[in-house]
Amino acid sequence: MDMQALLDDIAEAVAPKLGEGRVADYIPGLGRVDAEQFGIAVAMADGGVYGSGDWRRPFSIQSISKVFSLALVLSSGGVRIWQRVFREPSGTPFNSLVQLEHENGIPRNPFINAGALVVTDQLQTMTGDAGGAVRDFLRRESENPTIGVNQTVADSEAAHGHRNSAMAHMLASYDNLDNPVETVLEHYFSHCAMEMSCQDLALAGRFLSRNGVGASGRQLLTPSQNKRINAVMLTCGTYDAAGEFAYRVGLPGKSGVGGGIIAVVPGRCTICVWSPALSLSGNSLAGVAALDEFTTRTGWSVF
Ligand code: GLU
Repeated sequence: MDMQALLDDIAEAVAPKLGEGRVADYIPGLGRVDAEQFGIAVAMADGGVYGSGDWRRPFSIQSISKVFSLALVLSSGGVRIWQRVFREPSGTPFNSLVQLEHENGIPRNPFINAGALVVTDQLQTMTGDAGGAVRDFLRRESENPTIGVNQTVADSEAAHGHRNSAMAHMLASYDNLDNPVETVLEHYFSHCAMEMSCQDLALAGRFLSRNGVGASGRQLLTPSQNKRINAVMLTCGTYDAAGEFAYRVGLPGKSGVGGGIIAVVPGRCTICVWSPALSLSGNSLAGVAALDEFTTRTGWSVF
């Protein structure tokens, strides 16, 4: 297969969709991007990296960072996380407070905001610097030492973070946070505001397609832990549209409100697409269309 030609073709096929949908602006620092950008990168499990469009342009990774914070907690033996967070799709918006109270402060899964706050809390306890741990992991795995936080986006999110703050206080009221609310929020905002390109993210997530084996050949996660992260991505990784994403794309995936999505073809590759305009479900509209094209044309899916 000529991967480069395929990616160029996909970029061309989705071009008419660019700008359809809406850029997330509930974090004002995020709302200022050009909606018509599009990038796609593929990091093959056995080496090569391919890309097309704006695949080298950094963007705000937002919720995609939640995959890496979870991987770090699990790789350091933090199985206690599964007593603090469930593994079921939520069926509610990613920032909903209602379910959290109804279920006594145990978030439905690690990828909705409440669950990710608990993961960040546990990583903070384990490392003393959860945001820094995620950043260092991303730098190491992508082999790009320049990756860092966009402080304007992090500050903007903190200034408008009333819902996340309410959620963190609710978790604390159920004794499901070990660290002060302010500390957990600061580190959560910091890993969400990390900026990376499609190329960086496809490389950083390549271990997910390699049974947990990272860039240096080191086993970051056991094959069983790796399988489980992919399973949670498949069922809970794309907001309240994980069923639709499984139907259209057929791969474990994790999206973010910055318009990025990573998707994993076990044993073959990790893909990252990015286009800032989102569908009503919060997933990149052109990004999902591109992944749909990719799996349809290659036949690479988990089904
Ligand atoms: N930092 C964002 C928030 O907490 C992440 C949302 C997302 O990408 O799903 O609202």
